[in-house]
Parts: sequence; structure tokens; C-alpha cells
Amino acid sequence: LQKLKDGLKGTREKISGGINRLFLATKQIDEDLLEELEELLISTDIGVQTSLDIIEKVRLEVSRKTLKNGEELKIHLKKELQTILDDIPNEGFNIDRDPTVILVIGVNGVGKTTTIGKLARLWQREGKSVTVCAADTFRAAAVEQLQIWAERADVDIVLKPESKDPAAVVFDALERVKHTGSDILLVDTAGRLHNNPNLMNELGKIRRIIERSFPDAPHHVLLILDAVTGQNGLLQAKEFASKIGVTDLIVTKLDGTAKGGIAVAIAQELQLPIQYIGVGEGVDHLLAFNSQEFVNSMFE
Ligand code: GDP
Repeated sequence: LQKLKDGLKGTREKISGGINRLFLATKQIDEDLLEELEELLISTDIGVQTSLDIIEKVRLEVSRKTLKNGEELKIHLKKELQTILDDIPNEGFNIDRDPTVILVIGVNGVGKTTTIGKLARLWQREGKSVTVCAADTFRAAAVEQLQIWAERADVDIVLKPESKDPAAVVFDALERVKHTGSDILLVDTAGRLHNNPNLMNELGKIRRIIERSFPDAPHHVLLILDAVTGQNGLLQAKEFASKIGVTDLIVTKLDGTAKGGIAVAIAQELQLPIQYIGVGEGVDHLLAFNSQEFVNSMFE
């Protein structure tokens, strides 16, 4: 919980500190305060429409005299945000298939490889045998980086340094997992420009190869999103969701922004569950997402 609190420090100072400042200026909730609150919410990237909807509800509560001060306001906002997150369909993150095949996608630099390393280590520590597959053949550095993470997590890695064909590497990894009986296969992929049709074709091909090896796989298509890119990341996310199909989200770098509301906006817009969040570069800076803890940490 402390890591979550530290990670959301910037966002918390912005929202909670902002609300405190609003109430220092005026003691009551009037139209001026509501307008400033609206701006404050929008500035945390939870989305313009969501901010407007929330303010509308606050206005109603204020007129009913059920909402009078900053603390009551925070409680109300927390409830609203949590309702948004809890209304998103979520089957949980099942990793108990035999094997569980997870395709990991997202644009370059969002933290795909790092997150795969963190997940591999997390699950390895839980007693699962994990295999990672270096299918980002576009960048040699990506393969090297995954190798370092695989060593650190002490998990198996499948790579083909001489091959430029990601589908071939994935095929090898699927064969390896059949042979070794590994519990989980994490497939790292390339992420050059999301609007590049080649990338989408490549990911589609990888997906089909996985489907051919294990009929109900991939069990998760995990989209990694960088909180720092804010609303821009949403467009990418929609593109991946419509072209490849996405089942779950991980939002990284929440520690690097005061606009942590973007996590709520993305999940709401895509109606996809956030399963983990990244709050730092270290191996332990990946946290299972809990909507209540998340929203609380945005405020206190
Ligand atoms: P990829 O291109 O998507 O595979 O991205 P990388 O895994 O190479 O990560 C890009 C950079 O983001 C690296 O410097 C990581 O250390 C950093 N990074 C990844 N996740 C987080 C996070 O949750 N917080 C912070 N502060 N940095 C992160």
C-alpha cells in the first residue's frame, strides 16, 4: 500500500491538495468552486465528459444539502470514481490454464519489456514456471533487455537472434512450452508506431499462430499503457483494441505523473479492466490493481 501511495503522490497532491485549496478560498460549495473543481478534475485526465458528469452529481448533492465541505466532497468523488471502475466487466486475471498464454502489446517505450520482467518474477515467486518469448525482433536492444529481466527473474526465455520473423520466434516458444510444461508463456512484441499497418498485421499473425497451437489461447491480450502519455495514449489503446482485440490493461509510470486519473479514463473508455499498475522502475514496482485502494490513494 505504501508503494501505491508513493506512486500516486503527484496525483494525490493535485486532486486532494487542489480541493483543500479551493476550500481555503471559500468555505462553501458555490458555483465558482464547482467550476474550479471541474477544471481540477479535467486536469487530472479522468476525461472531460466524466468530469462534467461528476460535477453535475455534486451540484445535485449540494442542492440537497447532503454535501457541505471538502471532506464530504472527497468521499463523494471517491465513490463516483470507484463506481466507474467497478462497473467495468472483469473476470479477474486467471493464470491457471495449462499453460496460460499471454500476448503483451503496446507502443515502444510504454514499459512492455519491464512489465513482462516484473510479472515473470512475481509469478515465478508464486511458484509458477514462466517462459518469456522475445518476439520484438525489430529492436535488438529489446531482446537483450528481456534477456536481462529473464535472468533476474530466473525464468526461461525463447529467442532467435538470427531471425527477423517474430511469428517464428513465437512458434518456437509455443513448442518449447508444450515440451517443458511451463505454466505461463509471456510474449513480448514490437511496438513501433501504432498506426503502422505492418505492426497490426504482424500482431494479427502472432495471434493466429498462438490460436493454432492452443485453441483457447491467447488467454489474455494484455495492453500496456503509459500514464504519462495521458489522453494521447487513449487513441493508441483504441487502435489496438479494435485491430487486435485486448482483454486486460496494465497502466505503467503512474509514479511519473500528476494525471493518474488517466487510468480511470482509459478503463472507462475501453470498458476493459486494469489488472496491474506500474509505480516505478524496480522489479517490485508492479502492483495488483485494486479499485478501492487506487481511488483512496488518489485522495489520502
Ligand atoms: P517497451 O519499449 O514498451 O518495452 O518499454 P521498456 O520496458 O523498455 O520501458 C521503457 C522505460 O520505462 C524504461 O526506462 C523503464 O524503466 C521505464 N518504466 C517502465 N515501467 C515504469 C513505471 O511503472 N514507472 C517508471 N517510472 N518507469 C517505468
